[in-house]
Amino acid sequence: MIKHNIYINSFLYNFRKEEKKMEIHSVGGFNEVGKNMTVVNLGDDAIIFDMGLYLPAVVELQEEEMQPQTYSEKKLRGIGALPDDVALDKLGLRNKVRAILLGHAHLDHIGAIPYASYRYKAPLVGTPFTIAVLKKILEDEKIKIPNKIATLNPNSSFTIKGKKRNYKAEFINITHSTIQTSMIALHTPQGVILYANDFKLDNTPVLGLPPNYNALKRIAKEGVKALVVDSLYSGANKKTPSEKVARALVEEVLMTIKNESSAIFVSTFSSHIARLKSIVDYGKKLNRKIYVIGRSMNKYISAANEVGMCPFRRDITIGSYKNQVESILKKVKRDKKNSLVICTGHQGEPGSILDRLSRKKLPFEFSPNDNIIFSSKTIPAPVNIANKENMDKRLRKLGVRLFDEVHVSGHGGREDLRDLISIVNPENIIPSHGSTQQLTPMIELAREMGYKAGKECHLMQDGQKLRLR
Ligand SMILES: [Zn+2]
Repeated sequence: MIKHNIYINSFLYNFRKEEKKMEIHSVGGFNEVGKNMTVVNLGDDAIIFDMGLYLPAVVELQEEEMQPQTYSEKKLRGIGALPDDVALDKLGLRNKVRAILLGHAHLDHIGAIPYASYRYKAPLVGTPFTIAVLKKILEDEKIKIPNKIATLNPNSSFTIKGKKRNYKAEFINITHSTIQTSMIALHTPQGVILYANDFKLDNTPVLGLPPNYNALKRIAKEGVKALVVDSLYSGANKKTPSEKVARALVEEVLMTIKNESSAIFVSTFSSHIARLKSIVDYGKKLNRKIYVIGRSMNKYISAANEVGMCPFRRDITIGSYKNQVESILKKVKRDKKNSLVICTGHQGEPGSILDRLSRKKLPFEFSPNDNIIFSSKTIPAPVNIANKENMDKRLRKLGVRLFDEVHVSGHGGREDLRDLISIVNPENIIPSHGSTQQLTPMIELAREMGYKAGKECHLMQDGQKLRLR
């Protein structure tokens, strides 16, 4: 009898231990800006947040091979462009994965899916825009994946089927530099894991909904076990301004510079639909015909249009393929004072429209006093900085006026982070989305707010595991 009891007690103990188990695996995005991937291990079940690409590695590869193309998983793993999720296999996690939850449509969050999601028998879950972009990428790269895909409206929930229990994953609307971005609250018996990668707190977004503060307050009451948080600008003493400020910057440049007879080209992030809207709105006020050229522009604008979030679709003419781009540029050349071109190339990417224009490889030549507006910021990776500088040099030689950084970031600063922590009051904080150097100020902020380093706030690197009690 005693023996029996011991057996039952140890069984219960182990069962409870398994029930209580919670480990966070920082797979990617904790040593670099890119290849974001975090895994939560709950004992019987594991949940993946994001599966992104490390873009500088891909840009370098494109440079080597000089044309955009599809790559093999092996090649991408070889250059370190994919998160190292193979390491999870050894830990026995691969077969426990029940869902892959996607926070937003940026490539450093979803770009690895075509190459790695097949390894998991789990559905992909995201908002309509995120899923529409993902499907376009899969179409473009001619890759078929076996995973089921679930589309979820912002501010709604998905039920994840676990081995013995279900979990609720809540997609809480938040603001960022692309539309329909979510903070994901994974409800577990040990509390909520809040995956807040990426975000800023923008109460006046130009397109889409403002942050859902009510949902954040509600989960705070429930109890947030851990916050995995975009800490890229935790070292910047500021609150990142609203997108309405970026809209005012676009207005300022377009409406006040002397530009009556000159060409105007604007480049921005293809996925930044709100920014594109502001550029189109002021382009219309100038009475210029608006052309949008470049493959990736077409991809994101079509995705936004499919989900009913492209209010300016009828105001623009899009050119994606080579002959369309060339015919648009010939038209612009004939009537440049009545045209405004939105195009790719703000990072000086080889093969982008601005790159090819600067090398005189397209049927349009810039003349002195033509304008190029960069509604963007150069991503601070050596390859981007070098590409942009070299392109600028070529453009300046042609006498072009350059307007840099007509832009506001999509990532919150230190004071946004402080506000988020105050609202959700997490037990543990795990900074993500940057190098150790970029993430360290978040640990300092957490300490300022009363968290103990190493105990309640945790500086992690790629490939580590953290056990939460
Ligand atoms: Zn992002």
